Amino acid sequence: MIIKSAELETVCGITSTLPETEMPEIAFAGKSNVGKSSLINGLLNRKSLARTSSQPGKTQTINYYNINHDLYFVDLPGYGYAQVSVEIRAKWGKMVERYLHTSKQLRLVFLLIDIRHEPSENDCIMYDWIVKNGYEPVIIATKLDKIKRSQIQKNLKIIRQKIQPVEGTIIIPFSAQTKQGKEEILQLIEDRIAE
Ligand code: GDP
Repeated sequence: MIIKSAELETVCGITSTLPETEMPEIAFAGKSNVGKSSLINGLLNRKSLARTSSQPGKTQTINYYNINHDLYFVDLPGYGYAQVSVEIRAKWGKMVERYLHTSKQLRLVFLLIDIRHEPSENDCIMYDWIVKNGYEPVIIATKLDKIKRSQIQKNLKIIRQKIQPVEGTIIIPFSAQTKQGKEEILQLIEDRIAE
């Protein structure tokens, strides 16, 4: 897929009505700081279109990026940030659930997990949530450049063991620094929206 244009089109707050889009949607979910903005910016060849984590967990919005006037990237708010209140966390949950439940155009959900660490309980909950809503998430193991080559397979195995994804689940290691994994992810998106 060649990125010809990318712009932030809609930002939905906690109580906003989600837009009824006419184009396929590709969603990105993951814990705060996992590298979600870096992935989105990397896929789009942009430095700072997607928000960065200067205030992780503070921005509880769902952002719709219009890509090529062909599809949307939907950036779901990051979870698991320790310093947000229980109230905000509950609102976050409702918002993400509402999105997964009501989107009619959602074709693919990427769940981002840091390749360095064992997935958290929240990662497992998020995975199960996505599956319960009828989607099979593709896992992106982020920050690939931060571990040694010899560690990659071992760490991917730990992710599989903890998440217990459905059979056939794809895990794509990705680095925002080297862009390794980028073409595979873009190809997957292209294939999925063509289906
Ligand atoms: P978000 O909260 O999930 O949107 O995370 P960000 O994309 O803002 O990334 C959080 C931090 O991790 C930032 O300091 C990034 O520069 C860093 N980061 C993200 N992806 C990578 C990566 O692939 N490699 C390295 N070395 N650092 C990364």
